[in-house]
Amino acid sequence: MNRLGLYCSRCSVRLPFRYQEMKCDCGGTLLVDYDLEHIARTLTKEAIQTRYPSMWRYKELLPVSNPDCIVTLGEGWTPLLHMQEWEQKLPIKRLWIKREEQNPTGSFKSRGFSVAVSLLKEAGATKAAVPSNGNAAGALAAYAGRAGIKASVFIPLDCPPLIVDECPLYGAATFLVDGFIHDAAAIIEAGKQEQGWVNVGTLKEPGRVEGKKTMGLELAEQLGWTFPDVIIYPTGGGSGIIGMWKAFQELKALRWIDGPMPRFVCVQEEGCQPIVDGITCNCNQAESAQAAGVEASPTGMRVPNPPDLAFILSIVEQSGGTAIALSKSQIAEATRTLGSQGISASPEGSATWAGLLALCDSGWLRPSDSVVLFNTSHAMKYVKFGSIAALPIIRSYEEYLRL
Ligand SMILES: *Cc1c(COP(=O)(O)O)cnc(C)c1O
Repeated sequence: MNRLGLYCSRCSVRLPFRYQEMKCDCGGTLLVDYDLEHIARTLTKEAIQTRYPSMWRYKELLPVSNPDCIVTLGEGWTPLLHMQEWEQKLPIKRLWIKREEQNPTGSFKSRGFSVAVSLLKEAGATKAAVPSNGNAAGALAAYAGRAGIKASVFIPLDCPPLIVDECPLYGAATFLVDGFIHDAAAIIEAGKQEQGWVNVGTLKEPGRVEGKKTMGLELAEQLGWTFPDVIIYPTGGGSGIIGMWKAFQELKALRWIDGPMPRFVCVQEEGCQPIVDGITCNCNQAESAQAAGVEASPTGMRVPNPPDLAFILSIVEQSGGTAIALSKSQIAEATRTLGSQGISASPEGSATWAGLLALCDSGWLRPSDSVVLFNTSHAMKYVKFGSIAALPIIRSYEEYLRL
């Protein structure tokens, strides 16, 4: 087994592995520690390249020790779509979109929950709960269903109805919460002792960050074991940023890639932008939480209080990245631009496109930059049926001609 234990991302203390409570006494976040020396001696890039196209091709770098406990629905190894025409139109060198919406639950949340639920199975847990703006709830529901674990999901009541609807379909006990994601989290914390729930919320357990780490591993492999210059990522709780940063650290430690880390760009929607505020005006978390009003749309980016904001800010700053907030209309326009090219992009995925355009305009992106966007979910999951009501209804070609 390559899993050694845990280490603190802030004070570096090393601790034995555990399945819950990832906050260190110092306030930092605990991450999984691997025997990277051993992995470097026993595993090669070439060996990985011949494996099945799933994120479990990196199993040596994932924390599940008993392979019989792996809970999979076919997640990962998503396409990296090359956007050649836009390389001509925009002042950058290379552009790709990582099509994370093609994961089994229609969002990249599949990756985190495949690992998290595998760890729950390994630990013999029977009940799990998650606060979620929708996609985490759907992913826990699906993977827990597959594993025979009872899922309870708590979702703010304004979240997209199709995403909510899918949870009971997967057999999860589903509850709407009159509040934000942190209000949903408070319900789970209050009840977890009595109800026997394992809280699999962001940074509450080790699996989700490790699962999202595979996005970084995959990206590097798909780019011929190199790093892109810039990653534009729609950020909410930040586990994807933390996971990809960890992936790149591990690839460097394995001496599979060197050179500078990609610059991380966090995109958020105006109205709920704690990371943007943290980068641009040094506001503290409490101030930005107040600023996170009801104006922001209910998407995966709407997380007023990320559990370890300082960690996300340090990754963005150290990498030479930035953060940018986009308006609803910029995001909606981007959905149409991507849609007209055959790409079904959720508001979060669309925000990365809007961010790309804004950073080209401002000159932050350079003509030599290779850029990767993350389309984290489908447009389909966010559909409101209102638009269908406006479509013409016909019974024959004659009626079509009369329109
Ligand atoms: C959860 C979610 C995000 C935010 O991801 P984090 O890694 O938690 O910051 C972005 N997009 C979608 C579609 C999501 O479901």
